[in-house]
Amino acid sequence: MVQEVHQLIDSHAHLEELEGLERALEKARSLGMVAVIAVGSNHQSNVETLEISERHPAFVYPALGLHPWALAEMGASEIDGSLRFIEDNMEKAVAIGEIGLDYHKRLRAAVDKDRQQAVLKDALRLAQKYDKPVILHCRYAWKDCFDLVHQMGVKKAVFHWYTGFTSVLREIVALGYLVSATPAAEYHGEHRRAIREAPLASLLLETDSPVEYGRETRYRSQPADIVRSLGAVAELKGIDESTVARKTTLNAAGLFGLPVDQGLAL
Ligand SMILES: [Zn+2]
Repeated sequence: MVQEVHQLIDSHAHLEELEGLERALEKARSLGMVAVIAVGSNHQSNVETLEISERHPAFVYPALGLHPWALAEMGASEIDGSLRFIEDNMEKAVAIGEIGLDYHKRLRAAVDKDRQQAVLKDALRLAQKYDKPVILHCRYAWKDCFDLVHQMGVKKAVFHWYTGFTSVLREIVALGYLVSATPAAEYHGEHRRAIREAPLASLLLETDSPVEYGRETRYRSQPADIVRSLGAVAELKGIDESTVARKTTLNAAGLFGLPVDQGLAL
């Protein structure tokens, strides 16, 4: 069976957490993928993300971030140091992320809303200052995340793995921000509803590798699993895979300022 090759971009992967990373990237290239955005979560992961992107120029593009989950173990001076590292390496990064808010009660017990918001604001200030897109994690916090991004005057943002309210999704789309689809779009009700409602012009594909997916059979994801996100989006929207692939790749290239094959625009 000949599998159709699509020029896909994985817009969100934690490459430094992948086992067998080099093999996984080889597989991604052999599928015809054209880029992977490697997101950083904390200082160590930002350092590793930069190293991986230097080993894979023009294929792995780094984003530098400070995930809300990382804050639980960090003191104020460590947080400042991480933000300073991001700023010092800004010209190497295509985006700031993964950053955001997470209002799950277990995390809120460790890092309250105010502290999470203060750090997010600092990161958004950098995005605004250097005109970088942001990659956002907003679990149970979609509205607050959206409001902060908007208020801080950040122009380009992707709300990753969107599962929030339709009302917030409409605001996201109206302001030209994007949402991204993971392989959970094959089965997760809230995520599927959001993908169905978001116009194709507002969508990116991602894997959030190495996150585990699946209902009956669980599997650890890698960038090549982007074909699952693609298949699910095509099915949900009733649009052929080639069109979804081309549009989402152009959306990602536009957001992150990546060079794309001119043939894609046809
Ligand atoms: Zn992530």
